[in-house]
Amino acid sequence: MEKLKLYKKQIKFHLILNLVFGIFITFSTYYNLPLKYFSDYLIYFIHFLMLQFTVFGFLYILSINKYIFYATFPPLFIFYSLFSYWVYTQDITVSGSIIQAAIETKMNIAIDLISLPLLLYFFLIIGVLIFIIKLYNKLHINQLKSPLILFSIIGILTFFIVENYKFGVFKRRLPYSLTFAIINYSNKPELKISSISNKIKHRQTSINIIFVLGESVRADHLRLNNYSRNTTPLLNEIKNVISLPNVYTPFTYTAISVPQILTNTSITQIKTSPIYSLYSILNNSNFKTYWIGNQTPEKSYYSFINENNYVELIDKFHSVLSFHKKLDNELIPPFKKIFNKTTNQFITLHMIGSHWWYENRYSKNFRKYKPVINSKYIPSLTKNEIINSYDNTILYLDNFLHSIISILKKEHTETILIYLSDHGEILGENGKWLHAQNDGSSTNPAMIVWYSDEFKKAHPDKVRNLKNNADKKITTDFFFNSILDLIEVENFNYVKSKSIFYNKNNYVNEEN
Ligand SMILES: [Zn+2]
Repeated sequence: MEKLKLYKKQIKFHLILNLVFGIFITFSTYYNLPLKYFSDYLIYFIHFLMLQFTVFGFLYILSINKYIFYATFPPLFIFYSLFSYWVYTQDITVSGSIIQAAIETKMNIAIDLISLPLLLYFFLIIGVLIFIIKLYNKLHINQLKSPLILFSIIGILTFFIVENYKFGVFKRRLPYSLTFAIINYSNKPELKISSISNKIKHRQTSINIIFVLGESVRADHLRLNNYSRNTTPLLNEIKNVISLPNVYTPFTYTAISVPQILTNTSITQIKTSPIYSLYSILNNSNFKTYWIGNQTPEKSYYSFINENNYVELIDKFHSVLSFHKKLDNELIPPFKKIFNKTTNQFITLHMIGSHWWYENRYSKNFRKYKPVINSKYIPSLTKNEIINSYDNTILYLDNFLHSIISILKKEHTETILIYLSDHGEILGENGKWLHAQNDGSSTNPAMIVWYSDEFKKAHPDKVRNLKNNADKKITTDFFFNSILDLIEVENFNYVKSKSIFYNKNNYVNEEN
């Protein structure tokens, strides 16, 4: 009887502990989800309960020994709750960037972040924490011998089994997102980039190159590639625009596709050695490199970004997972500021593009195709709604590229712009959606080239070859090799035959 009472007390304690933890930490990563039907809410509520059940497993283990509990729970609870404050109020994404910022931010900036609501929230956390500790002190039970430990082990196992089955189900949400962000931040990047010490010689020294790195845009949804809807009304009308509809990449998510595009690694041989980055080569020639990005950088290509002579990251605490992410037009003002009449500029613009959730990627005046999606839960949406929203993001892209080209035109320099999406997107084919899975459309990214009249005049052969190559099947290996071919690098090995500026008809003949 006495034992039953103790168990009751123990169950009550863990219920309250998890309720508090759920409200202050776990629930914050669900709070900003746009949902439509009762069923959407129900699904995410079950998701939340499952996640909290796995958290219960870990918290239970932590609570077995009172010294461990006193030493770890209070700092963890305060630390995680402070992060969730920003997730609740601003929908920030807990990732490596935020950890870096938290570690590297100077004291005066940190003080600026303190507001009255945050202060009140902080005192609330402390109050709740004291309450939990008091409850814990009244627990006079050996938790190691309680049957609850069985449930806690099931909770922990659930975490690992579900994560193994589908990566990110739990890991992308608090408290796990923060834990893994810290682990990732302290790990070294996977790709080992070799440095280049000698001066790179190249024959072309009067070219400006603008690289627009797109996101999740599939080739066949551009009118330029004969899509039934006119999704590229502005690009259709300007001259010197060439679309290359047959680009292939097997890497269908950003973290693996971007490093391949920016290095000499090939799609068939990712582990080439040594690995050279395009930016090291350009920096060792007389090019000036700039990176302006509207994506939270992934660890796998963070080092490439930092190689650039100038780096500006817009809105870096809101990743694709946030519903308050800024639009790509924010890239234009900093771009305008740096692009000028001089030559030898290599500017990368990294877009958030057409990444899910599509409604967050364009402004209202591009809502041409309706009805659009209004829930994040895919099964409650129609195929038509999803495609409408997606196509509206392409209209926005059309306008974005048109704006950039208008800026480039004004300077009358030998300028070329290469737009390449990092991968495509699946829109219901074979019952699949989005990307990070290989299907015809996720492996076929959109690619568009524009060049100035001055470029055309100075490099007629390159333009002719580009036009001849436009319909050929190429892989994203083209990028690294085309840039080196474009500036005619002399003392660095690359695969000229993979360049889009190379006369491939000749090449085939030579081989025959
Ligand atoms: Zn991507």
